[in-house]
Amino acid sequence: MLTAVVLACALSPGSPPVFHLPSPAPPRPRLVVVITVDQLRPDYLVRWRPQLTGGFSTLLADGAVFTNAFQDHGVTETAPGHSTVLSGRWPAHTGIVRNAEGVLDSTTRLLRVAGPGASPRRFRGTALFDWLQAADTTSRALSVSRKDRAAILPIGRAKAQVYWYQSGAFTTSRYYTDTLPIWVQTFNALRVPQQAAGTRWTLLRADSLYHEPDSAPWENGGRGVAFPHALPADSAGAAAAFIGVPQMDSLTLAFALAGVEALRLGRRGPTDLLAVSLSTTDAIGHAFGPDSREIHDQVLRLDDYLQWFLQRLFDRVGRQNVAVVLTADHGVTPFPESSRQQGHPDARWVSLDTLVRAANAQLTRLGGADTTKRWLEFDMGVLFFQDNGRLAATGANLDSALTALAARIRAVPGVARVDRPADLVRVDSAEDPIARRWLHLVAGDSRVAMVVTLRPFDAWGVPLGNAQHGQPSDLDTHVPLILWGRGILAGTYDQRVNTVDIAPTLARLLGLSPFSLLDGRVLKEALEPPR
Ligand SMILES: [Zn+2]
Repeated sequence: MLTAVVLACALSPGSPPVFHLPSPAPPRPRLVVVITVDQLRPDYLVRWRPQLTGGFSTLLADGAVFTNAFQDHGVTETAPGHSTVLSGRWPAHTGIVRNAEGVLDSTTRLLRVAGPGASPRRFRGTALFDWLQAADTTSRALSVSRKDRAAILPIGRAKAQVYWYQSGAFTTSRYYTDTLPIWVQTFNALRVPQQAAGTRWTLLRADSLYHEPDSAPWENGGRGVAFPHALPADSAGAAAAFIGVPQMDSLTLAFALAGVEALRLGRRGPTDLLAVSLSTTDAIGHAFGPDSREIHDQVLRLDDYLQWFLQRLFDRVGRQNVAVVLTADHGVTPFPESSRQQGHPDARWVSLDTLVRAANAQLTRLGGADTTKRWLEFDMGVLFFQDNGRLAATGANLDSALTALAARIRAVPGVARVDRPADLVRVDSAEDPIARRWLHLVAGDSRVAMVVTLRPFDAWGVPLGNAQHGQPSDLDTHVPLILWGRGILAGTYDQRVNTVDIAPTLARLLGLSPFSLLDGRVLKEALEPPR
């Protein structure tokens, strides 16, 4: 349109005026693919780089690779982590501060299978798909995962195509629809997990390529620590155990591709969004730890699956029409038993259960109230008030009780620090990353009594528990962040960035206007300048 065209006029003496029409805006991707690998630590992609020849290698070789990217908040769990990726906001602002307050919603039942109802009812504000739809109402989004929270939260509150795995099939909840589409029913009818009954997970490559010990006594609760790992012989058992083997990620990617085909994503004109969250790295990481032969094999297999997935997407949509983001919702801390062998002789399991139980009993005595009441709940480093209004009304001297409790917790071996919310806001957030990460989770949350930080290689729990994540340590917050595709400047970027930067960067790439106040920034350094 002529009136919208800005003409640049260069005049030089003796020559006629020359008019330069600006180049047209670069074509935008038709399909944005956001891959979140649950519990993928960035050092895996460095440690096993020579063996990665598939999808990870494609993204690492031709993408903008941010080596210092963080889920920069406390309670580094799946729900808070996924809430930051396409919202551009900290958990303190998305309202999703822990798994236990993630997506569970008993009012929105699942379709066709039994399992906990789920919806984004607690998610606050908007996300990338809302901005995409505001620009073009015909844009579509498909989000899939093995986990409900990982499928739901990247999309925010929008009623898009959102599916997750439950009891051997992909489903959704009544928040989104009352009927499963034919393509989902057709995919489920293949019964891939059930057909896998009795199959064994063996190493993908030659044994000599794996330098990790296979049998560590702390793995997998002390049972089945060595390869091969067999699925149960019965189909229902196999469908349940399928979430712990690499093939679950392959199934999730195949399901995503079936959806891309059915919905014709990326082939209709508007930009569409595909969010895929792959959960098996988390399952295997919890059971076997970040230094195990099992996690090594999982990463190699995932590299192959991603290659297969990306190639099929490119075949359908055109390589030049696809933009890809790869990140993770959190990292992981090794088993303390493993850390003790690797230069951290004091690494330990830490539990505050006894202290919190005693504090609840004391508050009951102070308040003279209901003896069954649990006044304080401790979860992943955060001590939540259950009913602080009622407790205050009893006249109990809550402040001195909490001060005494904080002192007792500080004395527990393994505890690095205890902060009350009022202490956190006084710190210099650039100088104190731990306080900053807690603030990104609990700022303004009146239910939080205090937050407890462990030393980096310690873990919440007891021996023979799972390897853990959830702390504000670098081990748990450091994640990969790779942008790939048209409009992205490939290279390695060492500056500190955060997962909340992904949504504003995609918005800029797609020419969208976010309409929430964002915490992240546009990663301009990795975007081609406007022509
Ligand atoms: Zn996990």
